[in-house]
Amino acid sequence: MAPIDQALHHLNKHMKGEQSQAPIPFHDFLQEMAKDPLCTIRNVFMVFHDLVKSLVEGGVDEYQGDPESIHYVHWDFNRLFVTDSDNPFFADRLFANRFMHLVETLPRGSRQNKIYLFEGPHGSGKSTFLYNLLLQFEKFANTGAGCRYESVWRLDRKALDSLMQQETLAGVERLLDLLDSPETDKVDLLKAHSSLHSGEDFLEIVCPSHDHPLLQVPKNVRRNFLDDLFKNDEIKWKLFTEKEYEWVFSTSPCTICTSIYQALLARLQSPEKVLEMLYARPYRFNRRMGEGISVFNPGDMPLKKSSLSNEALQNRIDNLFQDSNVVRYIYSQFAKSNNGIYALMDLKGHNTDRLYQLHNILSEGVHKVEDIEESVNSLFLAVMNPEDKEKLDQFRSLSDRVEVITMPYILDINTEVQIYQTTFGRHLEAHFLPRVLQNFARVVISTRLNQNSPAMLEWIHDPAKYRLYCDSYLQLLKMEIYSGRIPTWLSDEDRQRLTAKRRRRIIDEAVTDGQQGVSGRESINLFNDFFTSCAVEDRLIGMDTLKDYFTKKRKDLVKSLPEGFLDALLRNYDYSVLQDIKEALYYYNEDQIQKDILNYLFAINFEMGTRQVCQFTGENLQITENFLAEIESRLLGPGTTPDQRKAFRLDTQKTYTAHTLTQEILLEERAPEETALFRSLHSRYVHNLKERVLEPFLRNENFRRAIKDYSRSSFKTYDKKIQDDVQFLIENLRDKFGYTPKGAQEVCIYIIDNNLAHKYGQSL
Ligand SMILES: [Zn+2]
Repeated sequence: MAPIDQALHHLNKHMKGEQSQAPIPFHDFLQEMAKDPLCTIRNVFMVFHDLVKSLVEGGVDEYQGDPESIHYVHWDFNRLFVTDSDNPFFADRLFANRFMHLVETLPRGSRQNKIYLFEGPHGSGKSTFLYNLLLQFEKFANTGAGCRYESVWRLDRKALDSLMQQETLAGVERLLDLLDSPETDKVDLLKAHSSLHSGEDFLEIVCPSHDHPLLQVPKNVRRNFLDDLFKNDEIKWKLFTEKEYEWVFSTSPCTICTSIYQALLARLQSPEKVLEMLYARPYRFNRRMGEGISVFNPGDMPLKKSSLSNEALQNRIDNLFQDSNVVRYIYSQFAKSNNGIYALMDLKGHNTDRLYQLHNILSEGVHKVEDIEESVNSLFLAVMNPEDKEKLDQFRSLSDRVEVITMPYILDINTEVQIYQTTFGRHLEAHFLPRVLQNFARVVISTRLNQNSPAMLEWIHDPAKYRLYCDSYLQLLKMEIYSGRIPTWLSDEDRQRLTAKRRRRIIDEAVTDGQQGVSGRESINLFNDFFTSCAVEDRLIGMDTLKDYFTKKRKDLVKSLPEGFLDALLRNYDYSVLQDIKEALYYYNEDQIQKDILNYLFAINFEMGTRQVCQFTGENLQITENFLAEIESRLLGPGTTPDQRKAFRLDTQKTYTAHTLTQEILLEERAPEETALFRSLHSRYVHNLKERVLEPFLRNENFRRAIKDYSRSSFKTYDKKIQDDVQFLIENLRDKFGYTPKGAQEVCIYIIDNNLAHKYGQSL
């Protein structure tokens, strides 16, 4: 096969995979519907709901079981707004929750038209949001999962034969009509034309309002009709009782469909015969053609004519019915997005007029097209800037039909960081010490927060008590809450005071936060400048670099931060990395703890100075006073006297022989580490260990030097124990907190150089 033929042949094959556009008789449509009623009987709100539900994952509550939870949860919007998008939109956790709440309430509250206005400052990404949303909706609505049907009339000439004359228009004449008719009607007309030519003797009229085929069953008998159609099952019960299906019974078809139905009924005298001329085809969405989705930009000129018609089709309809008054094929631009989405990108320019045009549609659900009343049921969406809010004044009486959803700048740390990563590449993190990227985001977000937060101050009366971890305006704490985290450094009392009511108050403040400060666009530029000017080969970017950048290069920005914010951020960082190190050191000892305790339990039963192989650990022990004293100091803490130690040893040995060994190990066959004595010693050990975990940093000069020499060959010259300790620390920092070995070393040096173990050691 020649390449051209092959290519064309393949084209044919690909086409077959796409959904068929061909109309099916109403009878067949009802069969389709019976297969999956809930999917077939959907309005635009339900499809919108299904789109979001199919692409947004999550709803994850990180604090499951928290009785005060307000279900402020994590949603993953990547598939909806990021993946496959040329221009991704990032929803922070706050907006994601607001949006999901809106989506949840949509299908139920859809009896009345409503406009949803997404209001955000310049550079908050609201246009990108709406654009991506519409793109996804279009894609979804044109697939099987999002498909709905619309009405097409095929007026059968034979059946109507006695009532009409043969149409006289010749094919050539029709082609001429075609060329004159408005662009958007060509497709429909072509269909009518080609079907006439293929010898089928019918006139096809497509409902310009995309009416659901079920609506053509007259309203007063629709309930009975569906009652006959469905078994008495759960689906029927749902359909007949649930609020989201009310539209099935309450909506009338458009005036064109109504008049076609009536004209046919008058001639055929049988609803059954009328419905034989009703067909259904998939409702195809085409944003660029304005079918199903109409998007207007402020600069788009208004149409010259407020009504649309199709003269050629009108002529043929008139011919068919031999009456020019029965069916008037006239509709407005709103019809094209009926049962679809009508969107305004910004309330400026001509879009201001478009907004005002919506007044009647929002209040009455109808508007006039010449002298005909057209009903419109659409999802109305718009984005606007805060300064355009006054344009809503005339909708004041319709306040329940206007819903404003705020879209402030990103306020959650994770999302802000995700933006840097997506913009500058996934490997970005490899250039930073852990937490530094997040702290850059914290600085940016701080410029966006209002300084005073009544909600935070009502919760925490004395912010000063958290000065080691938080700024005095509690912004760092607020950001954690916005990001869905409750810090562990909160006192038990304050943790308990974080009731559902207080959480709601804090989250509600996010609507007024994020209206100022570094915008989304600026933050990318800012980050770019920071990254390019601070990245040095072979060195990870740390907090000192970050602080230098802001205090030296961006003094202007520092001014807009609350007083002492950067210092607080640094203290918070110091605290956090010390926590990492404590954890890393602590976990290292876990294995050792077990060995130490088992060796001790075994050794105290022998004479001093003997050598024994421990039956629990298999280690060869030289049992000396020193050996026992060392373990005892770990069990009892520093500063215990030799007498105290001896008493403790005697006591332990008695319990061991009288109960642990005889009763638990020999009689009950328990493993030694499952005995009560072991557990008690273990918790003593852990307690003291946690108290002293930073000891090597405080008191062991060799340990500190070994860390600094970690990547040099001289590291090998250190005592084996110190080498092991340092190695373990670094490996744990890597495994548990994502440090690179180099990053782990750097952060340890940072702790040493700033003497942080001393500074914070006591208060941790
Ligand atoms: Zn219609």
